[in-house]
Amino acid sequence: MGRGRKPTPVADGADAVVRTIADCAREAAEQGGVALADVGGIGIGSPGPLDPYEGVIISPENMPCMHGVRLKERLEESLSRSVRVDNDANMAAFGEQWLGAGREVDHFLCVTLGTGVGGGWVSDGRLMHGFNGNAAEVGHVTVDHEGPRCPCNNYGCLEMYASATAMVRRTAERMEAPGPKTSLTREGLTTRAIFDAAESGDAFAQEMFEETGRFLGIGIVTLVNVTNVEMVALAGGLAAAGDRIFEPTRRTFMDRGTIGVREHLRIVPAALGDDAGLLGAARLVAA
Ligand SMILES: [Zn+2]
Repeated sequence: MGRGRKPTPVADGADAVVRTIADCAREAAEQGGVALADVGGIGIGSPGPLDPYEGVIISPENMPCMHGVRLKERLEESLSRSVRVDNDANMAAFGEQWLGAGREVDHFLCVTLGTGVGGGWVSDGRLMHGFNGNAAEVGHVTVDHEGPRCPCNNYGCLEMYASATAMVRRTAERMEAPGPKTSLTREGLTTRAIFDAAESGDAFAQEMFEETGRFLGIGIVTLVNVTNVEMVALAGGLAAAGDRIFEPTRRTFMDRGTIGVREHLRIVPAALGDDAGLLGAARLVAA
């Protein structure tokens, strides 16, 4: 196995990004001692939205230069191998179900809590895409119908409450005068700082985890009612908070989950870290 790693040169435009991806593929092949010509295929996990059927990047927020780029075609030209492109959250789920937390189950959902809330759904061992590639947009189930407007157009989406970014924003909002008694300061506020404060007994910080877990549990009830998965794995920085986040999430799920379903669902930490997406993308072309 080989691995090439380079920062994405977003500021230099699409040509530079495509070239860098191709260079990484060549580097990984070389490191792995395999001629690129002998590689069966190349799988790409990219931020979405994108079209996984055509391999076209649509409009990822943090990569404006890639909007509309036909990535599959461009890489196939440059590398002379067959390429498949899919959403990075889908790839993380596909990897986790193959070799990580979900390797013993066939019905699996992975929810990544990062700057947003992403996810991927594997049903009966198959990655689910939907008609235009937007299945398992788990961050956009409503958890508060009177909540704030989400960039997706809906209101009160899970992503507005349970991403790491949302948790920090909501904590900072609560701290505005006449704020609660807390050891936290608005400067340098991160989920890690909230976690450390919670661990050292700060009741306000503990309440923020409790609340975030509650929203997550409410979202997972809806997701499980639609997907009937047997396992939900939580990934991303916020999942590293362990019981602080898992306990309120599981408790809320048990309070509200459908009888006959809730007893069988496991909510567990993802196991593969950053490698989940790489392995998922490899699995796309491994079959
Ligand atoms: Zn939304």
